[in-house]
Amino acid sequence: MEKTYDIIIVGGGPVGLFAAFYAGLRNTKVLLLEALTDLGGQVQTLYPDKKIWDVAGLPGASGRELIDRLKKQLAKFPVDVQTEAKVTDIVRVGGNWQIAINDGQTSVTGRSVILATGKGAFEPRRLQIDNEAELEGHGLSYFAPDLSLYKNQEVAVLGGGDSAVDLAEQLDSIAKRTYLIHRRDQFRALEQAVLALEQTKVIKKTPKKVKSAQKTADGRLELTLQHVKDKDQQEQLVVDNLLVQYGFLTKGQADTGWQVDLDWDSAGIVVTDQMKTKQPGLFAIGDASSYPNHVDLIATGFGQAPAAVNAAIAAIDPDRGGPGHSSSMNL
Ligand SMILES: Cc1cc2nc3c(=O)[nH]c(=O)nc-3n(C[C@H](O)[C@H](O)[C@H](O)COP(=O)(O)OP(=O)(O)OC[C@H]3O[C@@H](n4cnc5c(N)ncnc54)[C@H](O)[C@@H]3O)c2cc1C
Repeated sequence: MEKTYDIIIVGGGPVGLFAAFYAGLRNTKVLLLEALTDLGGQVQTLYPDKKIWDVAGLPGASGRELIDRLKKQLAKFPVDVQTEAKVTDIVRVGGNWQIAINDGQTSVTGRSVILATGKGAFEPRRLQIDNEAELEGHGLSYFAPDLSLYKNQEVAVLGGGDSAVDLAEQLDSIAKRTYLIHRRDQFRALEQAVLALEQTKVIKKTPKKVKSAQKTADGRLELTLQHVKDKDQQEQLVVDNLLVQYGFLTKGQADTGWQVDLDWDSAGIVVTDQMKTKQPGLFAIGDASSYPNHVDLIATGFGQAPAAVNAAIAAIDPDRGGPGHSSSMNL
């Protein structure tokens, strides 16, 4: 029989991660769903190397460090986590919430749901060539979660920001040959990352863009690179993999396609006390939530998460005692 979770948290950004931890601490059956391959939301996706100064007790932690710490904290409890699980619908069934994942490929049921969806699900900014969809997963990728897969391969990284430069630099010691293709001569990445790149054997192709890509008979990718200022200047480059690192976009917070009726304003889902939406058992926290003078800060969401979890538990099990202090627990 399908498991019914006490609390399903939608969105694995910093606020969803902390909410999942706190729900685990309170001994509930919890599921955390994240659309992307990596947990960490905006912090991990948009600024992993920037220092964050305004999270209590963590002066000057990088985005990556903050997310690593949240993941470590979450691992304390047996919380189910599904990545690459985009919530595409939320419907009330009986007294529970049924959640469709990836256009109904699977569904899960929860007694309550906490929406920690931030500014909406991120999508990679795609390579604009005709056969992009055909090539994705067949040499063309937007994510590189396991760099060891590129051992002894020829890899082209596309982009000029932090993620492209960092990735090319890391691949240099793993791949047989690494190319970095960027439409400008200068890279936008942090100075430190660009300096590190200079110490590698990465072959830079600038100012160039990928005009087209074709599969070769032996399953590799043949790229046609075009000089951005002189269209007639073209060259062919054959590689095993093309990793596009153009950053991410979101479709917009309210463009969810969910059937559930929620009140949205320009800042997010309107909530009242204890982060309640207008629907019973449905809460919104972090950047996804909206109320007068709400500020989009990680610290704000960290305060909201326990409020929503405690309210969800009180609704599911009114006889359960209050939260207590973690320092009294034997963890
Ligand atoms: C450049 C930059 C610098 C910043 N610096 C700071 C700072 O120094 N200090 C600070 O406090 N704040 C800072 N912020 C703001 C901070 O990053 C956000 O307030 C914080 O990330 C909000 O966390 P969240 O978990 O609510 O949402 P997010 O981080 O946006 O995470 C939401 C997650 O939900 C997922 N999601 C969305 N829709 C779905 C769906 N349908 N199904 C499944 N998953 C879904 C998304 O993929 C994402 O991973 C900065 C923001 C930016 C852009």
